[in-house]
Amino acid sequence: MEPGGDHIDGDEPREKCGIVGVSLTDRAAVRPLYYALYALQHRGQESAGIVTHDGFQQHSHVERGLVGDAFDERALESLAGSTGIGHVRYPTAGSLDKSCAQPFSVSFKSGSLGLSHNGNLVNADEVRAELESAGHAFTSDGDTEVIAHDLARNLLEEDLVRAVKHTMGRIHGSYSLTITHDDTVLGVRDPLGNRPLCLGKLEDGYVLASESAAIDTLDGELIRDVKPGELVVLEPDGAGYDTYQLVDAGSTAHCFFEHVYFARPDSIIDGSLVYEVRRELGRKLWEESGVESDVVMPVPDSGRAFASGYVDAAHETTADGDPRAEDDGGVEFAEGLMKNRYVGRTFIMPTQDERERAVRLKLNPIRSTVEGKTVTIIDDSIVRGTTSTQLVELVREAGAEAVHMRIGAPPIVAPCYFGIDMATREELIAADRSVEEIRERIAADSLAYLSIDAVAAALEASRADLCLGCVTGEYPFDVEGETTDRRVERPEFSGVPADD
Ligand code: SF4
Repeated sequence: MEPGGDHIDGDEPREKCGIVGVSLTDRAAVRPLYYALYALQHRGQESAGIVTHDGFQQHSHVERGLVGDAFDERALESLAGSTGIGHVRYPTAGSLDKSCAQPFSVSFKSGSLGLSHNGNLVNADEVRAELESAGHAFTSDGDTEVIAHDLARNLLEEDLVRAVKHTMGRIHGSYSLTITHDDTVLGVRDPLGNRPLCLGKLEDGYVLASESAAIDTLDGELIRDVKPGELVVLEPDGAGYDTYQLVDAGSTAHCFFEHVYFARPDSIIDGSLVYEVRRELGRKLWEESGVESDVVMPVPDSGRAFASGYVDAAHETTADGDPRAEDDGGVEFAEGLMKNRYVGRTFIMPTQDERERAVRLKLNPIRSTVEGKTVTIIDDSIVRGTTSTQLVELVREAGAEAVHMRIGAPPIVAPCYFGIDMATREELIAADRSVEEIRERIAADSLAYLSIDAVAAALEASRADLCLGCVTGEYPFDVEGETTDRRVERPEFSGVPADD
């Protein structure tokens, strides 16, 4: 389901962050940053922040809440300068620790730094401990500050590019970063390209953003994705950019969930339009596990692209894979679930009973669409199963004769350690249950998920180039207590930055 959208509270994976950076020729950066953050709002709704640099000093404003609430006119006017970065964020835990809100900004001997981070380091504690023993004092427990301190230390001794390279050699985990070092804006993507980051051209400068939809919002043009292990340095006058391939890991670990779930359908990520990938996933879902029914209904909004691909494929072939006869209309696509857009995450449900009925506040079936019919509901994921159980019940109560569930992704069997707030293993309904056991639990007449191979095919990627940790339990980074799906080199700590 859509991030922050349709699942009831606690039953959705949450992207933790969206990031942006701009460098303009002769115009304040703050408005483009502000608009870009609006375009990335789906990636984090707990806090928003902007750091700019006017050539002399750094300006920062970070506040709780949605972008529209975090900035007023006065705050925007205080953010002077033609370069800057921005961030929207979810907290790691339920409540927001403002010291962890971003961009993180600080001034060192080596200059002022601002950092926006999307992702999660798995060795932040080791790097932090080493920096602390070298005299660095931390103001937050976030991993972004760890990156800032490490970079600041390196910048005392070497140029910007070498400093970033050394930091990349020491941190392990997922990260897409936009950074200001004085009035220079940088973009960095981790060596496996786990989290997205793209580069775009504006009329009078350049932009880096988590998703290309943010570039579209600024009337810019997507140039390309930042490559895994690449550093992009935007010139302070917005006239151009330089790139440095600092690490070449030889393979990638793109988060497949970006395409399935997190990213906006109108974004292009790692070369694929998210909307088209979701339609293709829907087509494959029909090919793998299509079930003939009177009506196919997406869960609004993010189930739509899946359902449209599913129904398209269903018009071409029967569930058995035979060509559909001309006089057989196939299955009907219907918007049978209406969404109340005004039930946000702040809705308070004090009792378990209320929580269990929460989906009724968010979604309402159109009785005439489902009454007396066999219905297939298309959704993009099942996390804990609470929402699915309620949905099936709701549609049955509205008169459906049978309710089938089809899911456009493989079962989520393990948590994510790389910047997605998924749920713990104990909370995941698929962690220790078969598909049949889940079907029983959500009380659907049938249930099927998409295969991992179908996901890889839709993304035109090999399994080895995707992160599939949450659906296989094997991860591309070295996470303590977990297994890896590749040879992973976790940085070793000797107390001094590694040699070039
Ligand atoms: S574990 Fe899952 S959600 Fe996390 S980065 Fe990997 S694919 Fe994405």
